[in-house]
Amino acid sequence: MIDCECKFGAYVPTVPQIYKDAANKDNNSTASSSSSPIEQMDHSINHQQQCSIGPNWTALKLLSVEKHNHDTSIFEFALKDSNTYLNLPITDHLLIRVQDANGEYHARPYTALEEHTKGRFKLMIKRYAEWGIPESKQKMENKYFLYAKTDHSYKPPGKVSNHVHSLKIGQTLEFQHDDICKGKIAYPFEESVTSITMIAVGVGVTPMIRILRALLEKNECLHVKKIRLLYGVRTVADILQRVLLDKWHNSYSSRFQVCYCIGSRWNNVTFHAKTDAKIGPPLPKNWESIPDDRKKLGWVDGQAVYQRAASDPSDEGHRLFICGLPQVYMNLCGKRTKELEVGSELHRLGYKDYQVVKF
Ligand SMILES: Cc1cc2nc3c(=O)[nH]c(=O)nc-3n(C[C@H](O)[C@H](O)[C@H](O)COP(=O)(O)OP(=O)(O)OC[C@H]3O[C@@H](n4cnc5c(N)ncnc54)[C@H](O)[C@@H]3O)c2cc1C
Repeated sequence: MIDCECKFGAYVPTVPQIYKDAANKDNNSTASSSSSPIEQMDHSINHQQQCSIGPNWTALKLLSVEKHNHDTSIFEFALKDSNTYLNLPITDHLLIRVQDANGEYHARPYTALEEHTKGRFKLMIKRYAEWGIPESKQKMENKYFLYAKTDHSYKPPGKVSNHVHSLKIGQTLEFQHDDICKGKIAYPFEESVTSITMIAVGVGVTPMIRILRALLEKNECLHVKKIRLLYGVRTVADILQRVLLDKWHNSYSSRFQVCYCIGSRWNNVTFHAKTDAKIGPPLPKNWESIPDDRKKLGWVDGQAVYQRAASDPSDEGHRLFICGLPQVYMNLCGKRTKELEVGSELHRLGYKDYQVVKF
């Protein structure tokens, strides 16, 4: 979701320096605006107006938590001024920072899911739980695997998401909106943009939902005639906001269609040694609960884009928005912070750098 480096053949997420710098930013030394952004805005939802969270770290109170699925919840926070709306520009995000037990700050970007109630806004946050056994513990217990001295399968608990999930109602969390939160593409989209293919994996769907809400529910940017969302998840239970996405698929079908790409990359492999029968892994649990017109087995790869994109690479009005895991960027388009990589799957399909927007 952030960026990555390759360690022992696995992509390990790394946090860009800009987020590290932002986490350690001291409000007093960087306060640049002369008056609070809240004072500068009038009180209506208007995404052209200034966001009511400014460039300084602001502690906001948690109002409620609603469980969304097994690892994701929707958190509602109160704005400082109960008479304002959040007014976060459509393609922007907010930074959240937390302090760990050693006093170190960590900041990560999050997307506002809903902000149509005065004085409050909602975020949908997935908890990155600890997975596997740390190498130090393996050594202690003397349990060595084949590649005993590597710890690339161990996943430490996500620093920010676990902190947010541990919050109690009434506790506060620090937020910021400044230049590094600006989206990679200006909204409203230019008139020349006529079709959009969104490629989202896991919680990477949140920035897409934000854009879709504006395009579909608010009927904006009507020059974007065709929108396709290729949404990759490991299991059916991992699909976030499925009711909303299905509703949009059914209500705006001439403009928008979702395709749930379910499974891991191994679902794209078929085994047929010594036999003509193609036997793949079993279908994901509850596969049949998804209508045929909006599902595909396996990883979001170049073939899925080729088959399901809103338009093709030769269409100059076609844009691809991507938000997901480091592996998704690496396979499809190269590092999140770099331009479209020569030799990546999208490049091989014929897409140009200007068509690909990495969130
Ligand atoms: C534009 C944008 C918008 C976003 N919006 C949302 C949103 O609305 N909701 C949301 O939930 N998320 C969103 N994200 C993702 C979010 O910013 C965080 O990346 C996510 O919450 C994980 O942060 P964390 O601090 O909990 O985990 P981190 O500590 O960053 O770890 C992330 C993962 O990497 C693994 N990891 C970390 N270090 C190592 C290591 N050394 N070796 C192996 N594995 C390691 C962890 O185990 C974990 O699985 C967004 C991201 C972007 C870029």
